[in-house]
Amino acid sequence: MGKVVKAMPGGLVAIVGRPNVGKSTLFNRIVGGRIAIVEDKPGVTRDRLYALASWNGRGFRIIDTGGLDFGGSDAIVKSIRAQVELALEEADAVIFLVDGISGITPADEEIAGRLRRAGKPVVLAVNKLDNPNRMIAQYEFFRLGLGDPFPISAEHGLGIGDLLDAVVRRLPPEDTGEPDHDAIRVAVIGRPNVGKSSLVNRLLGEERVLVSEIPGTTRDAVDTLFEREGHSFILIDTAGLRKRGRVWEDTEKYSVLRALRAIDRSDVCLLVIDGKQGIAEQDKRVAGYAVDAGRAVAVVVNKWDLVEKDDKTAVRMTEEIRQEFAFMTWAPVVFVSAKTGQRVGRILDLVVQIAEQHAMRMPTATVNRVVEDAVQRVPPPSDKGRRLRLYYASQVGVKPPTFVFFVNDPELMHFSYIRYLENQLRSAFGFEGTPLRLLIRQRK
Ligand code: GDP
Ligand code: GDP
Repeated sequence: MGKVVKAMPGGLVAIVGRPNVGKSTLFNRIVGGRIAIVEDKPGVTRDRLYALASWNGRGFRIIDTGGLDFGGSDAIVKSIRAQVELALEEADAVIFLVDGISGITPADEEIAGRLRRAGKPVVLAVNKLDNPNRMIAQYEFFRLGLGDPFPISAEHGLGIGDLLDAVVRRLPPEDTGEPDHDAIRVAVIGRPNVGKSSLVNRLLGEERVLVSEIPGTTRDAVDTLFEREGHSFILIDTAGLRKRGRVWEDTEKYSVLRALRAIDRSDVCLLVIDGKQGIAEQDKRVAGYAVDAGRAVAVVVNKWDLVEKDDKTAVRMTEEIRQEFAFMTWAPVVFVSAKTGQRVGRILDLVVQIAEQHAMRMPTATVNRVVEDAVQRVPPPSDKGRRLRLYYASQVGVKPPTFVFFVNDPELMHFSYIRYLENQLRSAFGFEGTPLRLLIRQRK
């Protein structure tokens, strides 16, 4: 297993700049190498859209906003603009990257102007300053009016530490993850047009639901607090569910980013898919993020009224979901129609149920009994005559439930055996709707 670094995703950093200044190189540099984090859970498809990173113990997410493509003759200009708007809307701090070899271009000036007016924390980085002779080039960039430029070489890893110091200083205080309300925080995520807004309206319009807005939540996000049958819920970012009709609104990248932010702030994610259209690549990707972030997840198959059904249709769809979302076979599935209201009431029961599982804590003695049984039934793997020994296990965290297994040598642990242990924990304790984290440690 890889090294596990706890990265509280508190703060989003975006890299903007015109093409070829080195954004992807910088992104890779920050995410890879010594600053690395990423993930100890295999099997989840991953792309370069965003990654968790940390610097000096401060965790954050970083996004590469490049690659937005709108086509057409002015495609590049449009793409740069969209990229900058997107960053300004979503990020907590922006790295504006320029090319120290080519000097200031009109596109740089345009971006700088936009960033200055926005008043968002910006760090200006001058890239490709690979050797001391080139350092002089940075001074030209003072003219952009964004403060001291940071000279870097993304390719050679020069100046990255100072840059990240500056970035991290500009991030808002780390979210402790403690909500102000004793409420279940719910993110409704999914592709455009699957029916998220319709579902939310239905949920909030239900009888016996008491709704109040929470004032002053993060920036432009509006959360909605409501109560039902003695449980409180906070629907994350109901504003983001409204259509706002900007150019980038319907791009996949934008909707994924919006979902990411909601996932960050949630306990439970409702992944809405369109029952008629079926599962898309983006659904898997977003679900992967939610699982990576340790959130409880339920799959809501919407527009069930549009689907021609026989008595096997739901079973087949469930099987397909199990196959496509193989990394979360524990997620419950519910078939609803926001249009007719069918089974929409069931969604909140499910949310309560999986939120409880997500926060469940098992006593060490009970955990060890299950683990001992498991080890007796299927002996741990061995390698070149050495056998893995499991000394003891204990649950060290919740949301998601996190277990540490102390062993003689972590190198002897196999992924398949970890999965076996996870399955044993699940069959003993349930944990429906929540991912589990299993950490393997050497006993000192
Ligand atoms: P993006 O379009 O902004 O994402 O730029 P890329 O990261 O794809 O980089 C564009 C080009 O600049 C590539 O050929 C990189 O190898 C090169 N490049 C990136 N960083 C540096 C650097 O620090 N020094 C030099 N000399 N070249 C760099
Ligand atoms: P969002 O983009 O995910 O928020 O999706 P919307 O809630 O805006 O819904 C997109 C379209 O699907 C709208 O025309 C809705 O009326 C329609 N729609 C949403 N839910 C259902 C449903 O359960 N059944 C049917 N037939 N249409 C639905």
